[in-house]
Amino acid sequence: MGAGLSDRDVVVVGAGLSGCLMAVLLAQRGCRVRVFERRPDPRVNLADHGRSINLGLSQRGITALRHAGLLDHVLAHAAPMRGRVVHLPDGDLGYHLYGTSDDQILRSVLRHDLNVVLLDAAEALPSVTFEFDTKLTALTKGDDHAPVDLRFHGADGEQRVLTQTVIGADGAFSTVRAQMQRGEPADYHQEFLPWGYKELSIKAGGAGDQRTDPEALHVWPADSGLIVAHPNADRSLTGTIFLPLAGPDSFATLRTRESVDELLTRRFPDLLDLVPDVVDQFLSQPVGHLVTVRTAPWHFGDRVALLGDACHAVYPFYGQGMNSAFEDCVTLDQCLDRHPADWGAAFAEYQQIRKANTDVLADLSAENFIELRDRLASPLFLARKKADLALNKVLGDRWVPLYTMISHTTTPYADALRRSRRQNTTLAWVACAVATGTAAAGTALVRHLARRVKGK
Ligand SMILES: Cc1cc2nc3c(=O)[nH]c(=O)nc-3n(C[C@H](O)[C@H](O)[C@H](O)COP(=O)(O)OP(=O)(O)OC[C@H]3O[C@@H](n4cnc5c(N)ncnc54)[C@H](O)[C@@H]3O)c2cc1C
Repeated sequence: MGAGLSDRDVVVVGAGLSGCLMAVLLAQRGCRVRVFERRPDPRVNLADHGRSINLGLSQRGITALRHAGLLDHVLAHAAPMRGRVVHLPDGDLGYHLYGTSDDQILRSVLRHDLNVVLLDAAEALPSVTFEFDTKLTALTKGDDHAPVDLRFHGADGEQRVLTQTVIGADGAFSTVRAQMQRGEPADYHQEFLPWGYKELSIKAGGAGDQRTDPEALHVWPADSGLIVAHPNADRSLTGTIFLPLAGPDSFATLRTRESVDELLTRRFPDLLDLVPDVVDQFLSQPVGHLVTVRTAPWHFGDRVALLGDACHAVYPFYGQGMNSAFEDCVTLDQCLDRHPADWGAAFAEYQQIRKANTDVLADLSAENFIELRDRLASPLFLARKKADLALNKVLGDRWVPLYTMISHTTTPYADALRRSRRQNTTLAWVACAVATGTAAAGTALVRHLARRVKGK
């Protein structure tokens, strides 16, 4: 075994996005990896793709896929998103670029396509095996003398698996997390948004085709409602409508054709043209729920560690859940490089690096819900966003908007937030200077403070 390589048996629970990527990275370092997934193989059972929405891949996810050597395979299935088209309630369209340079774009990819690329890559490695339709039901953590003892339920009944190490990549309602933390002094906080979502498919070539720029994310902000749609490679869009779960105009009350039609016409006027069967789609889709999870610890000694939504599920409004889950995989891989003979130390360092950052991401994701829903139609807010981008263009990396740091860089989330707060203070000073008629002084001040912001 070379430096950083490991001769170890690892079980990964969950063949979703982070589980498959981690299986690739573990196999690349010499581990024998068995992956267990409660759902059927998505490549075989086309009827069950799970949540088939598309996801926005940004710099953190791109960097992680490049680290594993898989970026080109994924980009072959992705559509670029250069900015955001806002469908205003009066029928007007607004357009906001995502960044100031050509590389500051997001990529939209179907969850199913991405999952298949990752599954194929992991399965191509001789030391990785998959067992689908096999659900983890129990985990006993073991001790210095006993391995981790796992119980699975599958088509052939119960199965017992003993292993040195378990990676819990089993999503927001993780069984690994619950079993690992049982009997331990652990923190666990779960918060449901009182809003849910349904998926909508917006076909290419409809009556309003010119309104559905295929290289942009589309957002319909509305009073007590929100639609977000990602483009697909065939110019169609996959949309998600977010509404309150209860109360007036909620998923609980919108149960008839008339009520759905009335709400969509009132809140999202161009949608009926773009999606003639939108009412049928709305009534036939199930409601999804949105949850934030904060928890600690993320590991138990050198035997169990958590990844992705299992340790930090966030609301989807910053488009960072998958990106941060992929970033976990790279951080854990790098910690294993630094502690090849002590996986307990690697897991502890991984949690120490990641948790403070994913806690910040949870806050940002909740705040971005308000931004997308309530502020996108506000001229003041849009002017502030434009000023931020303009300053970035003039000052380069001395002034980087928060959105840019989160989506187009790998700056740790907490550092990005701290830096953005310093920039906001600067902007407030500048606004004061400009308002008092001293524009030249304002420009001088902004340059001076930007130097300080970057220097800190
Ligand atoms: C509406 C919506 C839009 C989103 N948009 C974006 C976006 O644009 N960009 C972005 O970065 N993120 C987005 N996300 C978030 C993203 O989907 C998640 O953060 C990401 O899927 C987390 O990956 P994961 O591997 O941790 O968990 P998952 O993808 O949930 O995978 C967990 C896997 O574990 C399996 N499993 C669960 N329990 C067991 C068990 N007991 N035994 C065996 N297997 C089990 C599950 O079947 C699943 O396959 C969005 C989420 C939602 C809901």
